[in-house]
Amino acid sequence: MRRASSSGSGTRFRLFPRPPYAHPGRPPEVVAISVPPDLIGPGPSDDRLYVIDPVRKSHPYGIVRGPYGTPHLSLPPWRGPIRRPVQAGPDGHFDRIPVEAPEFAQVHVYGSIRFVLDVWERYFGGPIDWHFARDFDRLEVVMLPDFDNAHVGYGFMEVGAHHNPDGSAAPFAVNFDVIAHELGHLIIYGTLGVPSRETERGEYFGFQESAADTTAMVAALHFDFLVEQLLEDTRGNLYTYNELDRFAELSATEQIRLASNSVTLSQFAAGWEDEHALSQPLTGAVFDILVDIFQENLVERGLIGRDVADLTEQVKKRPEYAATIQTVFDAAYPGQREGFRASLIEARDYLGVALAETWRRLSPDFFDYEEVATLLLAVDRALSGGRYREEMIESFVWREIGRVKVGPRLSPPAKSSHAFSARTLVPEIGRRLPQMSYRERVLIARGM
Ligand SMILES: [Zn+2]
Repeated sequence: MRRASSSGSGTRFRLFPRPPYAHPGRPPEVVAISVPPDLIGPGPSDDRLYVIDPVRKSHPYGIVRGPYGTPHLSLPPWRGPIRRPVQAGPDGHFDRIPVEAPEFAQVHVYGSIRFVLDVWERYFGGPIDWHFARDFDRLEVVMLPDFDNAHVGYGFMEVGAHHNPDGSAAPFAVNFDVIAHELGHLIIYGTLGVPSRETERGEYFGFQESAADTTAMVAALHFDFLVEQLLEDTRGNLYTYNELDRFAELSATEQIRLASNSVTLSQFAAGWEDEHALSQPLTGAVFDILVDIFQENLVERGLIGRDVADLTEQVKKRPEYAATIQTVFDAAYPGQREGFRASLIEARDYLGVALAETWRRLSPDFFDYEEVATLLLAVDRALSGGRYREEMIESFVWREIGRVKVGPRLSPPAKSSHAFSARTLVPEIGRRLPQMSYRERVLIARGM
């Protein structure tokens, strides 16, 4: 499989695999995305998406109140003024824009979206359609630095910042993980769609968050330097706390979620409140499966013994093994970097293809994690005769997927919940809202 970062015919960008405010001093990586320079316009923009930096956009898309208080559905396109769209360099590439320049943010967002789309369209074996294609040709990507979030919805992605209590901000525009996570939601909408009120189950919302995190994790493993650093830091022992683990870092010490969590489904048997928490058992299972596949590849290459691989699978139940395991990896890794790297890339691509095939077969209706597990096992059987069946079953069983039923939603969605946010609103809902007066509509049209 062609590696995203070694394409010669595409357009060059510089991306931070990890946000610079969490890893100061680490330079961005030069990558090439598949769209050739002559097909990228100012913004940047192309036939699938365009980035804008609006002037005075006072609220994110979704349901907002008009000047006289009437709720209405605000959707793209943005019709107000925008700041000058970013142009490519004279050679048609975008890798010369200084990191400190204000326009670097737009370029980083565009490059990140395209980089992730390249990765996942290869795994899907073709284009991933936008779920809003009926109404909009292209995704509108909006820079909205005052917005305390990043979200996607019907025809848009809006990119804000994490605002720290001391007044400083961590812009999500340079947080690859956050952009990739949001694009992950769009991939799932485009692939599965959304359930109706009658057919929706809580696990659908947990799955959305889990799949979005997985989208980001697998995409990040396409940065050569990140892979190298990850293996150097851990000596190939990916069960330790590591860089791949941390989602949506906000600073050097704070991140939103961990992939190698030890959350199991029984914690939600009585019910659930937040889909990000509910996503953890599934994300954890997928992360463990990635590491297990990697270790199987290491065993096959003769880089670690079978006994070591078996021992690492026990470490969740027997944390006292951790030190012994690290000693083994510390001895096995030196001089074998290339074998470790190749084993990880193979595991990444096997999992990527297997997940794409699994997601393609899922239905959004009456969703539960057990169905994800059943389909992933079937896909593994189809791809390789069930090469990783045992590891997959072990991971799902340990997470109690297929054993424990998730209880009901215990409280109305919190503000941070995406489940009923702008993302799932479609134009039909707009038509059911009260009519606005002509005058109020004029005021909105003028951007007041
Ligand atoms: Zn999300």
